[in-house]
Amino acid sequence: MTDYIVHASGAGHQVRLFAATTREMAETARQIHQTSPVATAALGRLLTAGAMMASMTSGEDNLLTLQIRGDGPIGGLTVTAKSDGSVKGYVGNPEVMLPPSSKGKLDVGGAVGRGVLTVYKDLGLKEPYTGQTQLVTGEIAEDLAYYFAISEQTNSSVGLGVLMEKNNTVKQAGGFILQLMPDTDEEVIVRLEENFRTLPSVTAMLEAGMSPEDMIRRIMDGMDVEFYETLPTAFSCDCSKYRMEKALVSLGRKELQEMIDEGKPVEMGCQFCGRHFTFPVEALQALLLSANRP
Ligand code: ZN
Repeated sequence: MTDYIVHASGAGHQVRLFAATTREMAETARQIHQTSPVATAALGRLLTAGAMMASMTSGEDNLLTLQIRGDGPIGGLTVTAKSDGSVKGYVGNPEVMLPPSSKGKLDVGGAVGRGVLTVYKDLGLKEPYTGQTQLVTGEIAEDLAYYFAISEQTNSSVGLGVLMEKNNTVKQAGGFILQLMPDTDEEVIVRLEENFRTLPSVTAMLEAGMSPEDMIRRIMDGMDVEFYETLPTAFSCDCSKYRMEKALVSLGRKELQEMIDEGKPVEMGCQFCGRHFTFPVEALQALLLSANRP
């Protein structure tokens, strides 16, 4: 089964729901960044959330970035997603290793530490939107629910999970986001609380063979659900030699001249996907010429 996100609404449109299965996405990220199990879990969770959140926006060129800056050994995470389902990301320290948490799980909260979550949304408007909240647990799902409540005034429930195989590849990954409309009936809220009390973890549901649609039906047990679009999602990076050239030019003429004077080719790597681009001195000279043009 390839990765996808499904959108739904329920309880007479009082609840918005998004759910995703993202095993391939998390495994691709693991292979690119050679992440340790706890870093794979942290990055897989944030990638899943980013993909779902970007898919909530409709414009084609919309860009959503989730950035976690914590004082834990993982050294922060960055994820950028587009509304078309493509998502990319990296962690500061991919090799981070920690003993399991008290519950015997991968200690994502311990790896992330205390700090802030920042959400940047570029919706093609003049000013990009920025929202920032404190991390609650560093486990990412709770931190996002808190962000939705504080920054977007939306009551939400977020579930994210990454399960590893014994050989440390990704076995299951996925998640859901549930959002209540401001005027949701009390009885709907009570029913949801009841359903959540017995809701298995995301990875347990995926392990049981449940699809994103099944997860939504389980969350909405006893209430009506309407499914909308299904969107394929994948780890993908849109970096290119051209973009790297633009980044080099943006350093300024002085910097470029210094690189040329060193007489060595310049190597630029993409943080998101690890691709490398080499610029020989002649290429740098051409860039300097183009930078000189008004
Ligand atoms: Zn890249």
